Amino acid sequence: MSIDAGCAAPRQTLSVPEARRIILDAVAPVGGHEWVALRACLGRPLARDVIAPCNVPAHDNSAMDGYAVRAEDAGAGETRLTVVGSAFAGRGFSGMVGKGQAVRIMTGGVMPLGADSVVIQESAHIDENSIVFSGPVRAGQHVRRAGEDLTEGGVAIPRGKRMGPAELGLAASLGLAEVAVARRLRVAFFSTGDELASVGRPLAPGEVYDSNRYTLHGALSRLGCELIDMGVVPDRPEALEAAFLTAADSADVVLTTGGVSVGEADFIRALMQRLGEVGFWKIDIKPGRPMAFGRVGKAWMFGLPGNPVAVMVTFYQFVLDALLKLSGVDPLPERPLMPAVCVAPVRKLSGRCEFLRGRLFAEDGVWKVKPASAQGSGVLRSLSEANCFMVIDAHRGDVAAGETVPVQLFEGLI
Ligand code: AMP
Ligand code: MG
Repeated sequence: MSIDAGCAAPRQTLSVPEARRIILDAVAPVGGHEWVALRACLGRPLARDVIAPCNVPAHDNSAMDGYAVRAEDAGAGETRLTVVGSAFAGRGFSGMVGKGQAVRIMTGGVMPLGADSVVIQESAHIDENSIVFSGPVRAGQHVRRAGEDLTEGGVAIPRGKRMGPAELGLAASLGLAEVAVARRLRVAFFSTGDELASVGRPLAPGEVYDSNRYTLHGALSRLGCELIDMGVVPDRPEALEAAFLTAADSADVVLTTGGVSVGEADFIRALMQRLGEVGFWKIDIKPGRPMAFGRVGKAWMFGLPGNPVAVMVTFYQFVLDALLKLSGVDPLPERPLMPAVCVAPVRKLSGRCEFLRGRLFAEDGVWKVKPASAQGSGVLRSLSEANCFMVIDAHRGDVAAGETVPVQLFEGLI
């Protein structure tokens, strides 16, 4: 298995794209589906293609308010046609449009038999029971053809597409009350650390509130995962072993935070190597260099660092797309980046790809980014105040004010 790359050479440093590739190559969709009512599908990936059971639109209809006519009746000069009826949306014209005739039609009105084109009302004037307009009519003008949006029997929404607002509407436009979505991924997660305290009670000296489980709760809920929150597990081998086994038994994916840094890694590493096949990776990423990835039983396991910002950075760069792929979505090979002018200097050592927190804004028609003042891997506030990551390549050093840097927007990511 390709995760061996991490196991076989634990001292070797992986680049961010290499680590992403190994993870995405290793995981495959878990399969399974359920039929879910349309409104409840939001955010969930389709497990099967949605096939159009009918044409959309179902009938040829008018794209504009105007008059349904026969194109051949119009000449190069002035044309006069007798208005013989009307066709409104939902209330059609039952007769036939004959030579020299027109039917008043509103947007969405079904094209009457015999008519093939629409003359918009702004181009025609009414003269008693007739309309008069100038110039030729192009056959089919301002007509929306039956099946133009979706053809009966064709794929309306492909498998693997996440149901967004447009897809809910699209499925509804086909009259579908429910669609087959991938079964929810079961994700078990716990925090490790003797210093961690749960919210809602005072801190004892040396304790820190466990925030990582809340960050992960939010991120995983947005993905529509079924959450198995296992709380805080102390840094004791028996407790960790029991937690790993329970988690791996009940979940598709196990996420842990903390305990993978240099001091503690050997301790958990020994445990993980006994329980499963897990690589401990050094990734040239900041924050978040140490990370574990592999399998315990049938579950995929991600051992994220403990620092709160590092948790979010590694989650978004490595875990998110793996979860999407596991639930049948084809993630983009690379995250979209946009260039922005960095307005303040940033100190950076070469060697690690840094995901700095920043605020993207527009000024005088130029996209600019202001780096957060505190970039420590424990400073969650920097993430809360930011709206993008500035992605600074591993090979380069300091960023000067005025330099253009690539940024990754949280919108659509977080
Ligand atoms: P570790 O990777 O376990 O050495 O943790 C690195 C740093 O992150 C330490 O300062 C921990 O106290 C802190 N940390 C670890 N887990 C959490 C957590 N769940 N919530 C908040 N801080 C944490
Ligand atoms: Mg720890």
